[in-house]
Amino acid sequence: MSEKAASEKVAVFDTTLRDGEQAAGTRLGSREKLIIARQLALLNVDVIEAGYPNSSPEDFEAVQLIGREIQGPAICALSRAVPADIEACGKALAQCKRPRIHTGIGASDVHIGGKFRDDRYGKTLAEKKRKILEMAVDAVRLARQLADDVEFYAEDAGRADRAYLFEMIASVIAAGATVVNIPDTTGYTVPEQYGALIRSLKENVPGIERTVISVHCHDDLGMAVANTLYGVLNGARQVEGTINGLGERAGNAALEEIVMALRTRADYFGVHTGVDTRELYRSSRLVADLLGVKVPPNKAVIGANAFSHSSGIHVDGFLKQRETYEIMRPEDVGMMESRVVLTARTGRHGLLDRLRKLGYPLSEQELDQAYRRFLTVADKKQEVFDEDLMAIMHDEIHALPATFELQYLHIYSGTSAIPTATVRLRVKDATEEGAAIGDGPVDALCRAIAQVTHTSAKLQRYEIHAVTSGTEAMGEVTVQLEEAGRKVVGRGASTDVIEASAKAYIDGLNKLASLHAAVRAPSAAG
Ligand code: MN
Repeated sequence: MSEKAASEKVAVFDTTLRDGEQAAGTRLGSREKLIIARQLALLNVDVIEAGYPNSSPEDFEAVQLIGREIQGPAICALSRAVPADIEACGKALAQCKRPRIHTGIGASDVHIGGKFRDDRYGKTLAEKKRKILEMAVDAVRLARQLADDVEFYAEDAGRADRAYLFEMIASVIAAGATVVNIPDTTGYTVPEQYGALIRSLKENVPGIERTVISVHCHDDLGMAVANTLYGVLNGARQVEGTINGLGERAGNAALEEIVMALRTRADYFGVHTGVDTRELYRSSRLVADLLGVKVPPNKAVIGANAFSHSSGIHVDGFLKQRETYEIMRPEDVGMMESRVVLTARTGRHGLLDRLRKLGYPLSEQELDQAYRRFLTVADKKQEVFDEDLMAIMHDEIHALPATFELQYLHIYSGTSAIPTATVRLRVKDATEEGAAIGDGPVDALCRAIAQVTHTSAKLQRYEIHAVTSGTEAMGEVTVQLEEAGRKVVGRGASTDVIEASAKAYIDGLNKLASLHAAVRAPSAAG
């Protein structure tokens, strides 16, 4: 305990909802983002980067909702060093208790020469660099008028000219930046080099002692977590990352890996975080489910096999003494909680209680709906596990004001029959029916639904998995649909996999129907 009290705290900044979502190829609705944000608050991260308000009305709304609802962590919004972006952050965070505005600009010659080609930024590279510096300072000043907490990112700092970077960071600190983020945007640096960069800032930038240095690394060469840890060893006191390492290209640094490395090797790093590591596994599952990106079984810390031992020698050693082959315990990351089983005899109160513990606080009306679904499932499969409840909840969370609603479905299939599907859908206020044959029952079903809905969306991915074990298990289907460059994930869960498929497909079509035609502003990556 005294060791922990003596060690310095490293703040944890989660950007799953911004850098992670930006790259997942799918867009989350504000309700889904809020569910993830609630879980991040339970995980007890210090900062949640909720989005990029000026990029789309949906992002604005999500940041606003999260800023209003989430207590605990600071809520951060991203902007470029452009007044309209920064003002949008200020507006979106107006009702937030602990707002942070994250603004910044390219710092490397490659970025400055490439992104600011226009003559209005100056004709020569030297002129452009002067102009960019002014823009950085102006951005921080404006942001400070709207929030007390302002983080500045020097994009592509990993490849920036040192002297210029020092000048830029010193100038934004003088302008009021409270945190300075030194991103390795392109995942180019190696650990010692990145660590030396952080140390050089500490040694050369006037005023750096008044700010927190933040590290933001990408995994293009598989070194995001290692680079982050070297940053910490050299004085960074905020780490940025995403759950499951989701993010642009090869991804961001995986938060769960950073946190567990700092904790397991506290003897080496000598720092601590405030994260409740027992919430890591649940956070990982939730993000994987809602973004439709599965976690590989061999993934460090939270993969399904991360704690399973298979070689005979290892198993023997493990059984004699756990520490022989185990440096962390699965329960430390929340992997082996006692399983709670609900049945049809579980009352509304029992369900509500369990859902709250799983991170789904519901209104009375939402509870009614969830309870009806729960009873149907409990009736069919007797025992209902947490995983089943999460599948039901995700199903409900995804339920949007529906343009299309499944009313009836009939499948005719067998080893000697041509698979045939008949469906009846409510389409706005009318009822429409259709039938189709296909290569298999799911194919026939999707063709019939496509016919009724007149959709031009392409089915790009179809995945099915059993939520729990046994033949009566709930099947969860995830589909990815693409229409005119927009991608959405649809999902559906049922004890009947054909019905789950229909639900997932229709859910995807409803999402496409409700998407605003908003276009994202050019990427403001940090
Ligand atoms: Mn990034």
